[in-house]
Amino acid sequence: MDLHLLTIDAARSAVAERKTTSMALVEAFYARIQKEDSQIGAYLTLSKERALEQADRMDRLAAEGKPLPPLGGVPVAIKDVMCTRGVRTTAGSQILGKFVPPFDCTAVARLEAAGAVILGKLNCDEFAMGSSNENSSFHPVRNPRDTSRVPGGSSGGSAAAVAADMAVVTLGSDTGGSIRQPASFCGVVGLMPTYGRVSRYGLIAFASSLDHIGPLAKTTKDAAIVLRTIAGRDPMDSTTAEVPVPDYVVELEKPVRGLKIGVAKEYFGEGLDGEVRKAIENAIQKLAKLECEVVPVSLPHTEYAVPTYYIVATAEASANLARFDGVRYGYRAKGTRTLSDMYRRTRDHGFGAEVKRRIMLGTYALSAGYYDAYYLKAQKVRTLLTGDFDEAFKKVDVIVTPTSPTAAFKLGEKVNDPLAMYLADIYTVTADLAGIPGISIPCGETREKLPIGLQILGKHFDEATILRVAHAFEKVAA
Ligand code: GLN
Repeated sequence: MDLHLLTIDAARSAVAERKTTSMALVEAFYARIQKEDSQIGAYLTLSKERALEQADRMDRLAAEGKPLPPLGGVPVAIKDVMCTRGVRTTAGSQILGKFVPPFDCTAVARLEAAGAVILGKLNCDEFAMGSSNENSSFHPVRNPRDTSRVPGGSSGGSAAAVAADMAVVTLGSDTGGSIRQPASFCGVVGLMPTYGRVSRYGLIAFASSLDHIGPLAKTTKDAAIVLRTIAGRDPMDSTTAEVPVPDYVVELEKPVRGLKIGVAKEYFGEGLDGEVRKAIENAIQKLAKLECEVVPVSLPHTEYAVPTYYIVATAEASANLARFDGVRYGYRAKGTRTLSDMYRRTRDHGFGAEVKRRIMLGTYALSAGYYDAYYLKAQKVRTLLTGDFDEAFKKVDVIVTPTSPTAAFKLGEKVNDPLAMYLADIYTVTADLAGIPGISIPCGETREKLPIGLQILGKHFDEATILRVAHAFEKVAA
């Protein structure tokens, strides 16, 4: 069985038609992980027992000639910020190094209920804070396309596992770009749904008003199948919207002719690598050949997006991470004498440098004397950024941009320069702040054969159109 070629439908029908068994598939993936992952570092924990039980369930269904559910027997893996019952969940942090949740994240439960087989948990930046996966407190992930380079972050394990054929599809999370940017760096598809489309129940919170769960996959169709499975209202998350979930897979095949594609000059300015620019311009031409109409749009507040994001995200993180105090979950420092000493030393030993930096920045932005100047101001600018998109989407159906200003950079290249790392998020944080959906799909390569990602942004709850444009592009690009 050629794992490289396995999409969801191919894996599922191979099991349904008994050309293979789900058990054999799972074993093939574990063999692959065993062989390859020592060079990549994508997995933190394997959930073999749970995987084999589910594979057996799917094989029995197939043996009885019963129809398999939409992901029946399909091996998937989960970013380690999503809780999995009975399976260690670390958020990439020592402070949760031994945490075993008693419940499942809704997105994980929905995938499993649809027949998916969960192979294990994927490495990520600590509490999803980072753009290179070098902030994992276990070990970094390497880019399967060039192991001297980062896979992107924070869902680096999720992107690398798909790129290295160590899972058919994976789940990631995106707060400021963490699904789309690693997808771009590793040459896979990454979809961030609209805020409120997918339940965050059981997602370890980084910045609650910005966090999104979504798929990383080999194809747009696989991303559509996963979204269809995990989307929709969840009584356990009051921010999930009561909006009907379309059949994204059916929507994929609708023609794109006549769609208006917005191009914003603010996304093609200083700092954009020449080869990336060229690839995006070529992609826009390909869309024009499909008889899409290319329309210039303006998103005038874009230059304020990175500072706005790093105020809002750190402020929310400082509040969310207060719960890791050595009492409720995970690690507790030993040999402390007083309660406050225990809190302090637990957090000092348990959190890494980037997480501490963000807690301090966020606490400062929320403190009495500075709240108005930083947090309140950032919220106002966030409204302006959202307004930019509202205006632009009066004229166009989607907006296309580069996903990242550069292709994958080298390990160690930016790790000591947080500002340079933050600036790399320039094209992705805007969509998180506005709550709109976005997808990154491969659209070319640099001379060094590094993948380049095309980002397609859409209107609130209109994932169907960005998936449709992505699918049409994938077909002409192939
Ligand atoms: N790179 C961004 C950050 O470090 C985005 C992270 C994310 O989307 N989880 O915050």
